[in-house]
Amino acid sequence: MFLICGAILLVHRLFGSILVAIVLSPIQQIFNAIREFKEGSEELLPQIVLKEEGEFAKLASIFNALTCRIQKQVENLTKQREETKEILESLEEGIIALDPSAKVTFANQTARKLLKLIENCQSLNDAQAFELGIKCQELILHALQTSEQISHKFTLESKYLELIAAPLAYRDGALLVIQDKTSDYKVIEMGKNFVANASHELKTPITIIRGFAETLQDMPKLSKQMQKQIIEKIVRTCGRLDKLVRSLLTLADVENVSQERFKLADLIPLVENCAHLVLSANPLVQINLNTELKTAPIIADADLMELAIMNILENGIKYSALPAKIEIGIEKKGEEVQISLKDQGIGIPESDLERIFDRFYTVDKARSRKSGGAGLGLSIVKTIVEKHHGKVYAISKLGLGSTFTFVLPSSFCAR
Ligand code: ADP
Repeated sequence: MFLICGAILLVHRLFGSILVAIVLSPIQQIFNAIREFKEGSEELLPQIVLKEEGEFAKLASIFNALTCRIQKQVENLTKQREETKEILESLEEGIIALDPSAKVTFANQTARKLLKLIENCQSLNDAQAFELGIKCQELILHALQTSEQISHKFTLESKYLELIAAPLAYRDGALLVIQDKTSDYKVIEMGKNFVANASHELKTPITIIRGFAETLQDMPKLSKQMQKQIIEKIVRTCGRLDKLVRSLLTLADVENVSQERFKLADLIPLVENCAHLVLSANPLVQINLNTELKTAPIIADADLMELAIMNILENGIKYSALPAKIEIGIEKKGEEVQISLKDQGIGIPESDLERIFDRFYTVDKARSRKSGGAGLGLSIVKTIVEKHHGKVYAISKLGLGSTFTFVLPSSFCAR
């Protein structure tokens, strides 16, 4: 009995072990397949291939399909994250994300540069741009504590920055945005300067006219000769005022010129026309046009281009001893047309050359005033040339003369 029972138990045990081994084999295969992923030495979820067919094989193929989908989703999310990072990195604004304890979790390139953040910098207090860092930290803490957006203007070296700290809408933490508003401030500054300069230039002739008019009013017994002289001065100053107002209006017009006014034009007859106009008012002046071109087509507002050329010609006469001599050259330079106007006048000091195209800039205030100039002529020229997508520059030698050159895109190719 004992022997029979022992044999049955042995057989039972043997069959049991074989059965367990058969059943557990696929599970063991699954464990083996995912071991490396589980231990972290493999990044990708593995595909499970079982030796045997059956229910476990079906389970493995479901698992494999799920793995594929998860893998795809991970890839998509990684791609999206990379894209978002790239977008944030390429923004002109500085962007910094912080967690609820104000620890930096992300800072884009602009922010890193502005704040001079060292690698893996965790607190804005550690920024090398110390004062900016402290201010940013202060704003961030405020946004985190109050859950409200806060902004602040900050001047860093010659930059005007706008700092905006805001709590994150969908998770804990805050975002800091640093915008460089330098160019906006410059435009505002330029506008302010322009108004101040224009007011000053307008005030001067008005004060003169008023002074003379009051003299006439208070002294009715002035001699006829004196009265005539005063009236002449008033008329002359009115002329100056008129010229100034017209220049200001021209400048505003040129700034807002519509593209519809730009048409195909030939620079050569345009220059000839200007020379003709100048010569009829100043018969002693000598103007020579040298060009080997038959046509010099440009896309231009002919009236404005004539105005720019006239301004240069008139300056050439104004700043030369009589009789003024002006050489004009028109050349084709690659895709561009170049027109240069060379006088033999008093010349411009090198230190002033860079600024003569600025509004209201005059080298010799007294001389400009005497000839009715307020330093707007060349700024009108520059605005006109730039509206034609061209460039203007001047070279000059004191006592020998100046050359003004316009480089304009040509439509030779379009013809
Ligand atoms: P303005 O109306 O006072 O002449 P512009 O803007 O036309 O003003 O010129 C600016 C300054 O540049 C002038 O004050 C003058 O000193 C200098 N300038 C311009 N053109 C010439 C030139 N051809 N020769 C010498 N100086 C010139």
